[in-house]
Amino acid sequence: MPSQSRNLPDLSASYTEQIFNAVNLGLIMVDADERVLLWNDWMSKHSNLPQEQVSGKKLADAFESVPAPAFLTAVRNTLNHGLPVLLSNALHRAPLPLFDPAELGNEKIRMHQSISITPLAGADGARCCLIQITDSSTSIKREKMLRSHSEMLKVEATTDSLTGIYNRRFFDEHYKMAVGHSRREKLPLTVFMIDIDFFKEYNDYYGHFAGDKTLTAVANTLKAQLYRSTDVLARYGGEEFILMLPNMPEESALQFAEKLRSAIWNLALSHVKSRVAQQLSISIGLSTYNQENEGDLKILLKCADAALYKAKQNGRNQSVQMPLSDMTAISSVS
Ligand code: GH3
Ligand code: MG
Ligand code: MG
Repeated sequence: MPSQSRNLPDLSASYTEQIFNAVNLGLIMVDADERVLLWNDWMSKHSNLPQEQVSGKKLADAFESVPAPAFLTAVRNTLNHGLPVLLSNALHRAPLPLFDPAELGNEKIRMHQSISITPLAGADGARCCLIQITDSSTSIKREKMLRSHSEMLKVEATTDSLTGIYNRRFFDEHYKMAVGHSRREKLPLTVFMIDIDFFKEYNDYYGHFAGDKTLTAVANTLKAQLYRSTDVLARYGGEEFILMLPNMPEESALQFAEKLRSAIWNLALSHVKSRVAQQLSISIGLSTYNQENEGDLKILLKCADAALYKAKQNGRNQSVQMPLSDMTAISSVS
């Protein structure tokens, strides 16, 4: 079978040298004695060693500092056995003392390298080899950037863009998990529905921009009342928040809700159009799942919502707790 090279034009030595020096990768050729035969411009630029200085030297002595043993072993293997070798970038990040000349500063950091070693037949029949080195720093940087970008997207997908707290999607996912955990471990789980009173009037009077700032202040204040990593506070809708506290027993839940309500009240944000008082307030509906009641966890959210409705009806600026059994009674009638 004719070799493919027969179809290629016979390039003159001057062409070959130009190509050799024009490529954007390091090329080294060593003979069977591991002596440097060729050292292209890229190598000179990144090792700071001109070709004249390294030509004829043993590969191990050619560089300013000794190359990694894995690199020398790989070259020897290729020369002895005629097999191509690829040095894994994951295992050997920078086997050779090569640097980015554009890098400033005294303490130079080795570039990340991908190295492949290919056996070649020498003119005298003895085996030599070609070493190709590419700078993988940029691809590693790009990979890092992509990773941090995807982390950012993950955060964005679970965060409410206005307030910075979790969004409804995150809550819904974690609620499912918390429900499972609560069931398995036989622990209580309390859900709080929190809604700003007369917020439409607030927006109408103070403007949407002020409304946004107040929403953020409310979210931050509520968040500041939490201390467990398993507590999840999320923006559930426009001016409505939802909070789930795993392991919060029914007996202490109302007191906790009142702590939240007071925290917002104590901000003393003026709301002259509120029919509660001249300042901003919230209403809270809450309900707890525990092992004693027969409640169905699926309707825990509905129960907290019904409790919030009651708080609104009773005059707002208050917390109403509804036992889950009340809800199960209603749902079994309807
Ligand atoms: P209630 O006490 O019964 O809860 O009355 P409300 O006025 O708070 O409730 P309603 O549901 O009638 O109005 C909610 C208002 O919340 C409507 C809208 O003006 C405001 N709102 C919802 N989302 C946003 C938002 O992202 N930014 C701002 N500034 N306002 C919002
Ligand atoms: Mg409201
Ligand atoms: Mg609302």
